[in-house]
Amino acid sequence: MAIDSNSRFDMSSSKANMELAKDIAKDKSLTGARYKLSELDPEYGPMGSSHARFKTPRTPLEFNIEDASNFKYDMDHCIKCKGCYWVEHTYNPGVKFNVRCPSNLFNDFDAYGAMGKMRIGVGLLEGDIEWTPSLVNILYSCPLCGACDVACKRNLDLEIELSLESLRVKAVQDGVAPLPAHKSAVDKILETGNIYGSKEDRKAWAKDVKVADKADVLYYVGDNTSFKNPQIAQATATILNKLGIDFMLLDNEKNEGNVVISIGMMDEAKKIAKETVDAIKASGATTVVCSDAEVYRTLKADIPKVLNIATADLGFKVVHIMELAAKAIEDGTLTLTTPIDSRIAYHDASSVSRLCDDWTPYKGERGWMGMIYPGQRRRRGRQGLYKEARTIMAAVPGADNTEFIRIRENALDICAGRGTDIAFPALTKFATEKRLEEAKYLGIETIVSADPQCRDAFNTYADPKDGVKAIDITELIVAAL
Ligand code: SF4
Ligand code: SF4
Repeated sequence: MAIDSNSRFDMSSSKANMELAKDIAKDKSLTGARYKLSELDPEYGPMGSSHARFKTPRTPLEFNIEDASNFKYDMDHCIKCKGCYWVEHTYNPGVKFNVRCPSNLFNDFDAYGAMGKMRIGVGLLEGDIEWTPSLVNILYSCPLCGACDVACKRNLDLEIELSLESLRVKAVQDGVAPLPAHKSAVDKILETGNIYGSKEDRKAWAKDVKVADKADVLYYVGDNTSFKNPQIAQATATILNKLGIDFMLLDNEKNEGNVVISIGMMDEAKKIAKETVDAIKASGATTVVCSDAEVYRTLKADIPKVLNIATADLGFKVVHIMELAAKAIEDGTLTLTTPIDSRIAYHDASSVSRLCDDWTPYKGERGWMGMIYPGQRRRRGRQGLYKEARTIMAAVPGADNTEFIRIRENALDICAGRGTDIAFPALTKFATEKRLEEAKYLGIETIVSADPQCRDAFNTYADPKDGVKAIDITELIVAAL
């Protein structure tokens, strides 16, 4: 059958289309060697009928990042629309500050965006390409910020974040990762229990703070706050005391596995995840409070993912201090009374926004049109602490409370966490400066964050003459008490 270029192209199972498809299939220069012609499924109706469906045998499916082939469908069905690069105009006023992928923006090459990494993933899984140092760099030069994942899921139910994570696990399995800088960080964690390799007392900050020997609530402090930002731990303790919540600390808190999991070192990640859960359970705590966004995300979503259990089955509840403070403000049991004379804005760190939805293991099948059986509620970043943060910000008296342009699940990640800054400091500097540009454009004087890694990066890269500084949201609450 001749191909008539004037014919309207449609995807129906009409006789003419089926014959055209057969003709095209013969030409391997058009279709590639692996092209297979779909067959009609007689169960649904004959060729040309409105019920006709192409035969799609169901295939087993598991959302398990230990085998990247679980996500080959997702990688293969990226339509290169680049929606993972831009914030849609429906969410973003104007055309300034509308990029959501810091990795693609910094490297100025689409291989670094999700669409490029999906293509690389298919190439690796099909055996069309092999690992090279450049491919490994592309894969890790990314904070796994999830901006691409929530953007893509507005149009397609593709698991982009899980695909990216599974490719890192594959890189480790194939022996081309971890990168030297990441390996050194993991060695420190395994040797000393913290990412800095510090031998200092991690509870030094708690000397003058009321801490219970035994309580239902456990404060999991995290490495950054324990060793670099003890004032955040003290502020968190002040808030808990003010709310009348007794809390304890672990006798021997250790790194919770954020970076190890993010690198894709699953053997080490599983060991740390199990030890962390065991230590929390042994403490008898029913609720774990976090102040570090990344510790929160790791405990709530990533550890369950690594251990293949649901967040609900952890055996304890994980909350962020923002949740407790916001609820107390709403209930009227916490009132902020000291005026703060500054133009303030909240920076939605990825780990307390689009990355912290509960984890639920999934095993099922994929079938016609990519549908999955049984259905599964996708993780779309809806459980982010957007409202809680804004309840706190709005309660600060005297402050000129404003917003960034890119907010909530569309916020620009500054690449300070998940091990990105360890191996790619130039990317962290670039992304942070981009966010600082946005702050300067809006006249923001104080950036408020719930991620101490973001706080550090903002204060490191802010130009003093711009008059922009960053504080933690716990510090803001205590300053306004
Ligand atoms: S990853 Fe999703 S949003 Fe990005 S180009 Fe592919 S289909 Fe579009
Ligand atoms: S995780 Fe973030 S930085 Fe990485 S590809 Fe997706 S949007 Fe870009």
